[in-house]
Amino acid sequence: MDQRKVFIMGSGPAGLTAAVYAARGNLNPLVVEGHEAGGQLMLTTMVENFPGFRDGIMGPQLMDDMREQAKRFGAEIIQGAVTKVDLSGRPFNIHMDENRVVQTDTLIIATGASARLLGLESERKLMGHGVSTCATCDGFFYRGKEVVVVGGGDSALEEGMFLTKYATRVTLVHRRDSLRASKVMQDRAFKNEKIKFIWDSTVSEVLDVKDGEVKAVQLKNLKSGEESVLNCDGLFVAIGHDPNTALFKGQLEMDPAGYIVTRNGGTRTSVEGAFAAGDVQDHVYRQAITAAGSGCMAAIDAEHFLNAHSS
Ligand code: NAP
Repeated sequence: MDQRKVFIMGSGPAGLTAAVYAARGNLNPLVVEGHEAGGQLMLTTMVENFPGFRDGIMGPQLMDDMREQAKRFGAEIIQGAVTKVDLSGRPFNIHMDENRVVQTDTLIIATGASARLLGLESERKLMGHGVSTCATCDGFFYRGKEVVVVGGGDSALEEGMFLTKYATRVTLVHRRDSLRASKVMQDRAFKNEKIKFIWDSTVSEVLDVKDGEVKAVQLKNLKSGEESVLNCDGLFVAIGHDPNTALFKGQLEMDPAGYIVTRNGGTRTSVEGAFAAGDVQDHVYRQAITAAGSGCMAAIDAEHFLNAHSS
């Protein structure tokens, strides 16, 4: 049976940074990429806020560079997905596609979170070309432009307010006639003159009349059924994220939203030897750089754990 000191699930900034550190620590980590190899940055175009890239870097290029960097130090990175995890005793048993089972002394969980999407074909096609799930990442490109934000929670309002720094008009489209967001966020958003609200409505299509860029959205009023077209340059989908934690239900402590709970500001989980890094344990910051930082922490925590438990 394949035996490892460090097994890393996920190949976004958290997983690959953990891989760089663990590999440089001679821990010979095995990284399983997961269904969305490279993570959420594969859905973006230019990343301008990752330090060290003066002129920015394309999201997929950044992930490719991280992958090659980890491999240079001996990380083994394989395609595929983990199908079952047994954390009931150490070494942990990790089951993968094709009936492969790996035993590992430590596990770094960097499976990320997936932005919820509306589920439209046009949304998928224009992702990174006017459709975004991250205002912090892409807001800058909308200076002097008009954007639409979908959602009625804290994320939608936060993204909407952030976007008013650049956009001339932010239209918030919500499927009900009252917001889910906290009162304080609502008060701020209602006071912001650049934000307009469209209630009881959803985006039923993203329209790109030319150039493969967003030019408008089609709206549907859910009460009257009426459809209309709103011109805009960008659509931000902010209807929540789902942490990818299904495999750990009942095995690790999670918060009510399903994020893995980590201890004392570090990456330790409720099971000794299992560590969590990146968006799977962070619904607040959710940035590539914070995910990378916590991936580094997880590798160091795993190394300390191995040192303390070596016989
Ligand atoms: P959320 O609270 O789950 O809100 C999601 C919003 O999207 C809801 O308004 C929901 O509508 C709407 N929605 C969901 N699916 C939809 C669909 N298919 N089509 C159209 N609309 C849809 O998610 P979140 O805003 O990302 O917040 C997640 C957690 O993080 C919350 O606990 C939040 O308080 C926290 N958070 C806090 C801050 C802050 O304090 N600064 C910032 C961001 C997030 P309904 O209301 O009709 O369900």
